[in-house]
Amino acid sequence: MSSPASLAGRRALVTGASRGIGRAIALALAKSGADVAIVARDSIALGPVADEIRGFGRRCVALSCDVTDADQVARLPAAVGTELGQADVLVNNAGGAATHKLIDHPDELWHRMLALNLTSAYLVTKAFLPSLVASGRGRIVNLGSTASRIGARYTAAYTTAKHGLLGLTRVLALELAPHGVTVNAVCPGYADTPMTAATIERIVARTGRSSEEARHSLESTSPLARLIDADEIAALVCFLAGESAAGITGQAIHIDGGAVMA
Ligand code: NDP
Repeated sequence: MSSPASLAGRRALVTGASRGIGRAIALALAKSGADVAIVARDSIALGPVADEIRGFGRRCVALSCDVTDADQVARLPAAVGTELGQADVLVNNAGGAATHKLIDHPDELWHRMLALNLTSAYLVTKAFLPSLVASGRGRIVNLGSTASRIGARYTAAYTTAKHGLLGLTRVLALELAPHGVTVNAVCPGYADTPMTAATIERIVARTGRSSEEARHSLESTSPLARLIDADEIAALVCFLAGESAAGITGQAIHIDGGAVMA
């Protein structure tokens, strides 16, 4: 893994950074020496994360933006450039899951999941391509999932979007390789975040199981039989953002306790 100061001089943008995995990634990048732009819709929730980043002696700009909205996304690069300079690390982390059987799947849910988990990465990446390419050593890390590699019942829209995100990762890796930009996907299993807490609540509501039983059912989806800690995922993202990972591109790297082995 990268040494603590290995991202000094880097300027990173992390979407969905107000809580969970994105927050852990933003803090880890800052601890590793990067200045960090953090994005979410709720600007109030970004405040404490920005304070923590500045507490590490790093610069931070907190930007309220719905990453599914092309007009809002188009304004991000200028805002980051003014406050921090041109971004050379992009972490497309914003995402979320909702479940439904396909037989009566609401179209609205389908479009919302694809917009949030796939189109957002397309929009944000396209907006930041000029600065990533100009740096000559840009890094893009997309937050995939085990759902990028395997199917699970009732997750048609989320699974389709996360599979699509891998396709985007591979195409971009090819297109950007001549510019020294690497593009990889990190694919966690169930992580200990507010998103998984919501999943546990849904299981409880639908099955009548206790929250302990519901949590155990998620833990037992992996051989290590535990949830992944957001800080573990953040450490992997920092590694991919650093110089040591310059030779890694177009990959889907699993951090899932062994749930997916192919
Ligand atoms: P959380 O729900 O805990 O956090 C989601 C973050 O994304 C929040 O900061 C939220 O802020 C932001 N966000 C949501 N919608 C938008 C939007 N439209 N525009 C901008 N920001 C948005 O999620 P996790 O930390 O658990 O998950 C992060 C990523 O990791 C996601 O892509 C998820 O699919 C993936 N992942 C998660 C796993 C898990 O078990 N938790 C497992 C595998 C992958 P706000 O609501 O204010 O916008």
